[in-house]
Amino acid sequence: MMCGSCDLRGPVHLSTGRYVYPHRLDLWDLPFWKCDNCGAHVGCHPGTTRALGLPANAETRAARRLAHAVFDAIWSKKKILSREEAYAWLSHEMSIHPIHIGELNVEQCARVTALCRERIGAS
Ligand SMILES: [Zn+2]
Repeated sequence: MMCGSCDLRGPVHLSTGRYVYPHRLDLWDLPFWKCDNCGAHVGCHPGTTRALGLPANAETRAARRLAHAVFDAIWSKKKILSREEAYAWLSHEMSIHPIHIGELNVEQCARVTALCRERIGAS
């Protein structure tokens, strides 16, 4: 796996919450993928060591959260498109196939957020 947050792109190693979130005792036993170079990290799908996306720093994680929230509104709250249609549309607009918001960088997230806001405003 490569790091999504730094120019060296890693190296990325499997770690645990004990090292990623030392103050969160409830997360100590959970697996995280962490970049040795920049400290960016990402959690895993429950019960697995399968990463939820590429390791991200705080800025990237915040950008992904925002992009995901605005994107999800298109199919969950506003019901402009179905979930499948929304992913197909975003994938087309971004020319990324398939698209996973958890793998995007800050610039790509900003574009997703802008596209989705435009889409919501236009309907
Ligand atoms: Zn890194």
